[in-house]
Amino acid sequence: ALYLQQLRRQRFPPLPSVRDLVKMYQLTAIKQLSQNFLLDQKLTSKIAKAAGNIENCVVVEVGPGPGGITRSILERRPLKVIVIEKDKRFESTLRILQDACPEKLDVFWGDVLSFEMSEIIPQEHASPWEGYLPKVHIIGNLPFNISTPLISRWLSNISDKKNAWAHGRVPLTLTFQKEVAERLTADTSNEQRSRLSIMAQYLTHCEIKFIIKGSSFVPKPDVDVGVVKFIPRKEPLIRQPYKLVEKVVKQTFCMRGKYCCRPVSTLFPNIVRQSFTKMLFDSALVYPNTRPYDLAIEDFQRLCDAYAEIIEAYPEIGKYEYRSVKADTQWENEYAAKFESFQLP
Ligand code: SAM
Repeated sequence: ALYLQQLRRQRFPPLPSVRDLVKMYQLTAIKQLSQNFLLDQKLTSKIAKAAGNIENCVVVEVGPGPGGITRSILERRPLKVIVIEKDKRFESTLRILQDACPEKLDVFWGDVLSFEMSEIIPQEHASPWEGYLPKVHIIGNLPFNISTPLISRWLSNISDKKNAWAHGRVPLTLTFQKEVAERLTADTSNEQRSRLSIMAQYLTHCEIKFIIKGSSFVPKPDVDVGVVKFIPRKEPLIRQPYKLVEKVVKQTFCMRGKYCCRPVSTLFPNIVRQSFTKMLFDSALVYPNTRPYDLAIEDFQRLCDAYAEIIEAYPEIGKYEYRSVKADTQWENEYAAKFESFQLP
């Protein structure tokens, strides 16, 4: 079986190893771009394999760098690989791969944080959200310094079916610092359960595929790395706008160690905090003395639904952002008069 698998692999003309190319072109890692290269072919192949069957698929790779993972992706016979890279120093090493696999590799230079992937993925690869997964994958050994803002942006895009997800439920296989990978996938009562766990899990099925030792990267980062695979859910587990969910979840985790009624109460302005918090918990049927990390996604679903009902009835409450005494004063100056003799219905 292994032999057959090897036969199915794309064969390249003889190429220098990525390690040699890095030396030849003096591609020293730039710290500001969080460059930690993976030069061990067994590991780059393992990442490409973790994405599942990518044969005849379009694969978007984020941050190819010198091209180690790109080679392993190309070996698995995708239809096309599209890479997005910020650092132009990798032009020569990526050109070598382009020459080795004519027509297979497209290179885009830019910042993935603001990159509109729907424009570079051919429309014929789209698949309806409710149907099969599209033949499109996103893979990347992400730079640590942007991995959390990037996955937050992409989760928001999954929720709105925008960017790559205008093409359907495009799966992602990405690396994160081990601790972030654990946060993304943490279940209830896990000490890593946090805002990221809820945001990732209500929109996607996500799991850690394997851990890579920090010592496998060049240069070696201080931490180990987790490879996480995400598959967008057909139906999100919370059916409210992303921004609303983000706000409720953010406030719930703003005081981790307290019972959840305390942090959740910060959704409401000081002068009406008690009454609206009671209204929220009564309506959501969530036990107020639960710790935030013990709340299940279903609890968040009911808290978000109850909060959405409240701000529909009292839009001024939705404008409140808990930050400081100043935020409360501002809110009070604008809206307090309406709530002066406020009684709960
Ligand atoms: N894929 C290569 C590997 O595994 O050896 C390199 C991985 S390195 C951790 C991250 C790569 O992302 C680097 O090539 C870096 O230049 C690139 N990068 C950093 N910030 C980026 C950004 N905002 N947009 C696109 N690429 C970025």
